[in-house]
Amino acid sequence: MALIVQKYGGTSVANTVRIKEVAERVIATRNAGHDVVVVLSAMAGETDRLIHLAQEVAEQPDPREQDVLLATGEQVTISLFSIAVKHMGHEAQSMLGHQARIYTDHAYGRARISEIRTEPIWHNIYKGCIPVIAGFQGLDGRGNITTLGRGGSDTTAVAVAAALAADVCEIYTDVAGVYTTDPNIYHKARKLQRISYDEMLEMASMGAKVLHIRSVEFAKKFNVPVHVRSSFVDESGTMVVKEEKSMEQVMVSGVAYSKGDARITLAGLPDVPGVAARIFTEIAQEGIVVDIIIQGSTDDTSLANLSFTVLRLDRQAAIRVLEGMKKEWTDLDISSDENIAKISVIGVGMRHHAGVAAKMFQALGNEGINIHMISTSEIKVSCVIDDSHTAKAVQILHDVFELDKPLQHEIPE
Ligand code: ADP
Ligand code: ASP
Ligand code: MG
Repeated sequence: MALIVQKYGGTSVANTVRIKEVAERVIATRNAGHDVVVVLSAMAGETDRLIHLAQEVAEQPDPREQDVLLATGEQVTISLFSIAVKHMGHEAQSMLGHQARIYTDHAYGRARISEIRTEPIWHNIYKGCIPVIAGFQGLDGRGNITTLGRGGSDTTAVAVAAALAADVCEIYTDVAGVYTTDPNIYHKARKLQRISYDEMLEMASMGAKVLHIRSVEFAKKFNVPVHVRSSFVDESGTMVVKEEKSMEQVMVSGVAYSKGDARITLAGLPDVPGVAARIFTEIAQEGIVVDIIIQGSTDDTSLANLSFTVLRLDRQAAIRVLEGMKKEWTDLDISSDENIAKISVIGVGMRHHAGVAAKMFQALGNEGINIHMISTSEIKVSCVIDDSHTAKAVQILHDVFELDKPLQHEIPE
């Protein structure tokens, strides 16, 4: 008998028919003798709908009130689901973030879980009642409702699994697992049997939305085995696990892309010490995360240029911060571009294989795809390109690194 946390995403609970099917699935797991804790997302499209409603009322909705609004999406699914389970003759109890004692920091819209006091969840488990927890939401120290950022229900699920020391956290979604790239963008994408936490972390940070980044951080930190699988078919999916020696044999195990970034370019900056520190400190103070940074010099030795990427949704806020610096830096010119995409190749094997970056640049160059920015880590190489080339670039890189073939460590002995 195991303790299993099962999280169902928006498409898995998109309507009442799906909700009843998922309820049957959960009951089947219970009947097999396991304890189950359920975490649910809002119905597919619901969070978008709520965001649009808020924007109809105000261009920049108040963040506290927007979180109160967005948290309602999950309230609908947990209650409908619990009604379905009870109707099927089993015990279930819906639990909002605060009822499940999920505490976060104060950052509305992007809150981080700080603690889960598990007594109320355990109380339900001991009673033989299935806890049905609203994903994506928590409570800050002042009693305000917070949300965890888009896709955040995965993080609720893994954090709950970590706090309960569950045997596994199953993430049910609309694809059969984690693929070598987004299967909705390239038909040759192949389901991976296993992927290491570090690779999954890079995949998620680089745009593979199949798992929320923070969920992978939690999984790695607390060693939670995560099983990503489909709620539509009965087959095993992908295990996200600790790195295994054999995983290093492959140079690249996935290609990710993100269309969620914007590039900001600053020209005419004074070329003196402390300028970059000031810019990035003030931007960080707004809670904006900066990704790729390129600093260049100009012919005029007293001036410098700087380009960096931020999330598209943070572009305006970042520009507002920078506009405030124009008074002091009178030559400063600020421009920005949203028509960009970030494309990345990822693999723990890169630590031991040379030439991945060169092969990537060559492949993009051969197709006439211009690279605007580059960044690397130990296990990934990313390029910023025009977003119109995204699908083509994903397909080329998938082909060049032969990701449609089984990886070395997946071939049975
Ligand atoms: P859910 O609503 O269940 O949380 P999401 O839409 O957040 O589902 O995530 C699943 C989607 O992630 C898939 O439909 C797929 O398009 C996308 N995706 C991107 N990269 C990958 C990948 N490497 N493997 C699997 N899915 C991916
Ligand atoms: N409902 C939220 C969203 O759409 C959280 C989630 O689905 O994970 O982003
Ligand atoms: Mg998701």
